[in-house]
Amino acid sequence: MALQRPASLTDAFLDKLVSRVPSTSGGSWKLTEVYTGDLLVELPQSTPEDVAAAYATAREVQKEWAARPLRERLAVFERAHALFIDKAQTTTDLIQAESGKNRRMAIEETCDPVMVMSHYLKRAPKLLKPVKRGGPVPLLSTSTEIRLPKGIIGIIAPWNFPFATGISDSISALMAGNGIVLKPDNKTALSPLYGVQLLEEAGLPRGLFQVVCGEGPDVGPALIDHANYVMFTGSTATGRVIGERAGRNLIGCCLELGGKNPMIVLEDANLDEVVQGAMFGAFGNTGQICMHIERMYLPASRYDEIRSRLVAATEALTLGASYDFGPDVGSLVSPDHMERVKSHVEDAVAKGATVLTGGRARPDLGPAFFEPTILEGVTKDMVAGVTETFGPVVALHKYSTVDEAVALANDTDYGLNASVWGGDVDAACAVGRRIESGNVNVNDILATAFASKGTPSGGVKQSGVGARHGDQGLLKYTDVQNLAVLKKQVMGARPGQDYDKYVKGMLSGLKLMRKTRLR
Ligand code: NAD
Repeated sequence: MALQRPASLTDAFLDKLVSRVPSTSGGSWKLTEVYTGDLLVELPQSTPEDVAAAYATAREVQKEWAARPLRERLAVFERAHALFIDKAQTTTDLIQAESGKNRRMAIEETCDPVMVMSHYLKRAPKLLKPVKRGGPVPLLSTSTEIRLPKGIIGIIAPWNFPFATGISDSISALMAGNGIVLKPDNKTALSPLYGVQLLEEAGLPRGLFQVVCGEGPDVGPALIDHANYVMFTGSTATGRVIGERAGRNLIGCCLELGGKNPMIVLEDANLDEVVQGAMFGAFGNTGQICMHIERMYLPASRYDEIRSRLVAATEALTLGASYDFGPDVGSLVSPDHMERVKSHVEDAVAKGATVLTGGRARPDLGPAFFEPTILEGVTKDMVAGVTETFGPVVALHKYSTVDEAVALANDTDYGLNASVWGGDVDAACAVGRRIESGNVNVNDILATAFASKGTPSGGVKQSGVGARHGDQGLLKYTDVQNLAVLKKQVMGARPGQDYDKYVKGMLSGLKLMRKTRLR
């Protein structure tokens, strides 16, 4: 039976969504439904001049937005929180159509901006309140830390979580008084465009949140050159390009990049939970989660048992194109990406790895389907041994000692996420602390860390610079003004005072202040 597209995705609805994308050139990009390859909509392509104009408009509106009292800005997000939940099914339809992921992952993605809003609605008033601190001369001076919006934030988002990365990362920036120019990936521009529409329905001033579209190298330079700060999520290779340009422009940037994430199973782990966790870790979002698992380290004593349970569980997964909650695993994002994933498997096999299950494209299901795949015998001379595959492919490795497992887990240029499973939670945490990774999940794959919105989440090594979430997830979008007041002219020598005497007094004053803990 032919796949039925969701009723919400009418041509009129899609045309309206893309109508806000500026394109003076009139060029467009064919945005397709991943499951079928059919055209969904012609997506306008912005020129560098369109990007400049988008910044100019956002800058005008941002002045008025930043001048509003914080409680008025936050009221927009109170309304948006409810609206995003009310419209979650339509958002899910869009995410599925443009990315090909299964419905469970798509609906979970719609929850992310809502959770981020909830967190910063509580936290923003504390973070943005001026903080009065003591000045250099006790009682006679003060210094106040004032948080000012940076201006317009350029956000560049990937295709794997287009709604979450496009919208969630803008929320704290907007609350802090900034405007946004977002460049989503061409393939997945629809759900973030819908997110902006919903924010405006909730009261966000029109023009404050701009969306420009185009291939990265075409519009990326203009996007960075006009920005006051850049928030980038994507591959490590592109992150380097963005970081270099931001550095030349002397603006800050946050780079959330790729991973080659390890999972360590300790001997005392609960295997039912391990197998269930591993299915999500390796194959959730069709293996296209930046924090997903591509390397599993299993104790030699339990290796055969875990391997056969993993293979059986993988073979029980259902794969398919559907807008309902049926399939366990959906499509990859595009035929191009499927070819890349396939090439990693082929390279590994050619160099001696074994396919325990999966390993094949599934054109019978759609143009970009690839089977959940488990490999054994992957080594570092294989592409899949060192580079992020970003597909439903996981390699099993045996270890003899925990020290060996930790060393193997750390033997990578990446450091985004790690997962450690064990019955003794303290022992598992001790292993986790030894892993060079910005996120470590004990007895979970990734959700516990990523959904803890109060704690910063970012990558180390080649996996990123900076973090989202936590206090720094908002404060990074602000500049600090140090507003200092001297109430009486007491600093420096008095007119005519002997300088030696003044210096002695000053030095003993410093000692006294330390003793009395005034400074
Ligand atoms: P990508 O780097 O190819 O593209 C990401 C975005 O950058 C897209 O919008 C793209 O158009 C744009 N871009 C590409 N070249 C550019 C340039 N020269 N200038 C400006 N923009 C440019 O990454 P992708 O393939 O879309 O996404 C997958 C990658 O993202 C994976 O490596 C994944 O691990 C990573 N990712 C990381 C996180 C995280 O939080 N750490 C989250 C999601 C995805």
